[in-house]
Amino acid sequence: MKKCPNCNNENPNGNLFCWKCGYDLAKVPSALPASPVQTLHAELAKQTSQPIQPVKKKKGTGCLISTIILLAVFGIAWLIVRPGVFTIQPIGALPEGVTFIYYSRGPEMPLFSSPDGLCLKIQGGVSLLCRMSALAAVTNLTDRIIIRLPYIRWAYLLSTGGMEFEQ
Ligand SMILES: [Zn+2]
Repeated sequence: MKKCPNCNNENPNGNLFCWKCGYDLAKVPSALPASPVQTLHAELAKQTSQPIQPVKKKKGTGCLISTIILLAVFGIAWLIVRPGVFTIQPIGALPEGVTFIYYSRGPEMPLFSSPDGLCLKIQGGVSLLCRMSALAAVTNLTDRIIIRLPYIRWAYLLSTGGMEFEQ
């Protein structure tokens, strides 16, 4: 059936003109059912326009295990070596200053230490006498040096909590 756009009258498909109002039905396309090809195209268009979901990456446990092992090895090495950093700031007897990394750090020694840092910790202040006795007390560290480096100011400042004292 062809529906007349003018009067909405239903006309048989063969009619060239609306039998009711005489409208030219040749202008009206007959309502054909969509062909299977058209249906397929429409279906494909619908599917291809849908966003493709990102693939959820399975979180590998291998990475985590490696990290734990690495941390464990590092932790054990740290416990065995027990490294410490000792800094002697430039003073009269040692105008260049020195930093050394030593092993077998005792529990009384902070990770970063210096004569001034030890004086601050033990006496709450720095004096020339304390400096000398602190230096004398740590001479045994020289047997346990891993590496000897030039004076590192930030290592000194870490040992004193950011304080600097006259040389
Ligand atoms: Zn009509």
